[in-house]
Amino acid sequence: MRAELVMVGTELLLGQIVDTNSATLAARLTQVGVDCYYVSTVGDNWMRMAEVLSHALGRSEVVITSGGLGPTQDDLTREVAAAVMGMPLEERPELWAGIERYFRESGRVAPAANRKQALVPRGGEPIPNPVGTAPGLWLERNGRTLICLPGVPWELERMLDETVIPRLARRAPQGLHSRVLRFVGIGESHLEAALEDLIREQGRVTLAPYAGPGEVKLRLSVRAPSKEEAEGLLTPVVGEILRRVGVYCTSRDDEPLEVVVGRLLRERELTLAVAESCTGGLIGDRLTDVPGSSAYFLGSLVTYSNAAKERELGVPAAVLERHGAVSRETAEAMARGVRERLAADCGLAVTGIAGPGGETPTKPVGLVYVGAAVGEKVVVEEHRFRGERRAVKERSARAALDLLRR
Ligand code: ATP
Ligand code: MG
Repeated sequence: MRAELVMVGTELLLGQIVDTNSATLAARLTQVGVDCYYVSTVGDNWMRMAEVLSHALGRSEVVITSGGLGPTQDDLTREVAAAVMGMPLEERPELWAGIERYFRESGRVAPAANRKQALVPRGGEPIPNPVGTAPGLWLERNGRTLICLPGVPWELERMLDETVIPRLARRAPQGLHSRVLRFVGIGESHLEAALEDLIREQGRVTLAPYAGPGEVKLRLSVRAPSKEEAEGLLTPVVGEILRRVGVYCTSRDDEPLEVVVGRLLRERELTLAVAESCTGGLIGDRLTDVPGSSAYFLGSLVTYSNAAKERELGVPAAVLERHGAVSRETAEAMARGVRERLAADCGLAVTGIAGPGGETPTKPVGLVYVGAAVGEKVVVEEHRFRGERRAVKERSARAALDLLRR
C-alpha cells in the first residue's frame, strides 16, 4: 500500500515552524508496513492545495494531510478535500454539539467560526479528536483514501494512535517491526566495526546505526505478519549484539538514559542529589523529564562559581586552589558534598570546561570530570569531549547519568 503525506500551512513554507508531523506520520506508517513514497508541503492557498491533493490522489492509495482544519479563514483543508474528492460538505449536528460541549467545559461559548469544524464531506467519516475541537476526516472514494488531520502535533498523534494507524494496519499485510538499542561510550564507527558482518548480511533483520551527540542508536527492523513472529527473528540478533557490545548498551527499548537510571534508583530504593557545574542544570532537566521522578530525585544544585561550590557543597577552598575547579578532586568533593547536603543516598557531580575559551595548557576545552558518590564509595571519571559548547554540555550530562547506571 502506497501512502503519501501533504503538510499544509504557509508558516511551514516561510520557515516559521518546523515540520515534525511528517516525521511522526512516516514513522508510524512504516511501523505498520505502509510505505510512504512522497511528502509535500503546501501553503494555505485553495488552488495550490487542490493541485497538490489531486496529484497525490492520482498516484497514491492513501493520502494523509496535516493542518488547516481550524476555524479561521485560512484553514481550507476541509473545503479543498471535499472538492477534490467530489463529496460536498454537510453539517453534522452531533459534531457541532460536541464542539459546543468542548467550549462549555472550559467555561467558554463556542464561537460561530467553529461551526465549520462540524462540516464533513458527504459519505465521509469524522475522526474523533479527544484533545481539541477539530475532528479529522476519513474520506474514501474510487479506491482512494484521503485522511485529514489537524496540525497541532499532540492532536495529530492522539488521532493517529487511536484511530488512523489501527485502521490502516488492518489493511497492510506485513508490518515492519523494529527495536532500537541505545549505546553510550562507544562511537558509531566502533559499533559498526564490531557488528560489521551483521550489518553487511542484511538478511531478514536489517541493522542501521544512527549517531547522536555521545550516543548511538541501532535500529533493528524486520518485516513479519505478527509481533510474535518478529520477536522470534529479532531476539537471537539482539542476543548476538549484546554478546559483543553489551557493556555499552544503555537500553534495549529505545529508552533515554534518565528513564533507565530512574528505574534503577526506584528498584534499589535509592535517592539522588546532583551537583552541576558546566552542565548548568541539564542533568536535573533530564531527570525531571521522567514522570514520577520525585520518588528518587531530590534536587540539583547548579554551582557554577568556586564560591558556590564552597558555600553550597562544602568543597574545601584548599581543594579548589590546589587542583582547580575542573579536577578529579573537585568532582569527588562535589559528589560527596551534594549527597550530604541534600541527605541523599547517591550524589552525582559534574565539572568541566565547555569552551570556547577557558582552557589552560594542562586543561583543554572538553575536559570533564563526572563523579558519583554512593554511600562512602566515590567513583570519578575523566572525559575529553570534542565539539562545540552545547555538545560538550550534553555529552557531560550523558556521561554523568551513564556513570550512575554502572
Ligand atoms: P488549529 O485548529 O490550531 O488552527 P489546524 O488543523 O488548522 O489547527 P494549523 O493551523 O495548520 O492546524 O496548525 C496549528 C499549529 O500546529 C501550528 O501553529 C503549528 O504550531 C503546529 N503545526 C502545524 N503543522 C505542523 C507540522 N507539519 N509540524 C509540526 N507542527 C505543526
Ligand atoms: Mg489553523
